[in-house]
Amino acid sequence: MPRSTYSFKVGDIECFPLSDGSFPYPPGLFFSNVPQRRLEKELRAHGLPTDTVTGTYTCLMISTGRHKVLLDTGGGNMAPSTGELLRNLEKAGTRATEIDVVILTHGHPDHIGGTVDTEGKPAFPNARYVMWKEEWDFWTGDSPDLSSMQVPEEIKTSLIMATARRCLPPLRRQIELIEKESEVVAGIRLLPTPGHTPGHMAVAISSGNDAVLHITDAVLHPIHLEQPEWQNVFDLVKDKAAETRRLILDRAAAERLNLMAYHFPFPTLGRVVARKTHGWHWEPAA
Ligand SMILES: [Zn+2]
Repeated sequence: MPRSTYSFKVGDIECFPLSDGSFPYPPGLFFSNVPQRRLEKELRAHGLPTDTVTGTYTCLMISTGRHKVLLDTGGGNMAPSTGELLRNLEKAGTRATEIDVVILTHGHPDHIGGTVDTEGKPAFPNARYVMWKEEWDFWTGDSPDLSSMQVPEEIKTSLIMATARRCLPPLRRQIELIEKESEVVAGIRLLPTPGHTPGHMAVAISSGNDAVLHITDAVLHPIHLEQPEWQNVFDLVKDKAAETRRLILDRAAAERLNLMAYHFPFPTLGRVVARKTHGWHWEPAA
């Protein structure tokens, strides 16, 4: 069994990466502009299968002492292999009712699928949910423009839009929309990192001299670090996503920042190192 819970400290703040499960993707969705043979060669070089790319979903519970903050809610019932967040939250000693802030980094189904329970009620009843205003407006609007996403129409309607319609409107009374970089509770800052989606956020956690930057979906797979020009089908604003990615990674490498990334191998904690040729590589925390 792969590990599904873990903990580490950032100064006085306790962090608990919690698996929500994983999903097997056709490799062409993660790496869309790469000839198949070249991609297979790269996957093999990383010791990975060539027929699917496993996207792991790792949420993060952050306990500051005063607050219990959850970063994203996983895929919920989007697949038989997802929806493990609540069980793993309990394993970490926390009930859903104790969560007082839920950060929704963006509106994709693998991040918001667990915001509501099977009856359509908020799964974290005592929490304020926080999302970037532009992101909320995009996904709750009449007809979000998903034309730049090269996924079949069927997936756009039956999964992506269906999840947004099911999981966001019930939060209306608990949602707080932000429009500028803000501290959501002491030690946890929300940063705009647009591109993957219009209002995608990164989350900076800091306490004392210690810090970690959660880049959520600014980078989807460690191979994207080494091959920065390899695109994925999910980035909605591709040029912006590439620019955001470069800014974050240049800074992260120069400052040796501790990073987390939602779809990286569990528990997703590590650092990036600039390569001599181009790009970066991933150094998972020991
Ligand atoms: Zn994602």
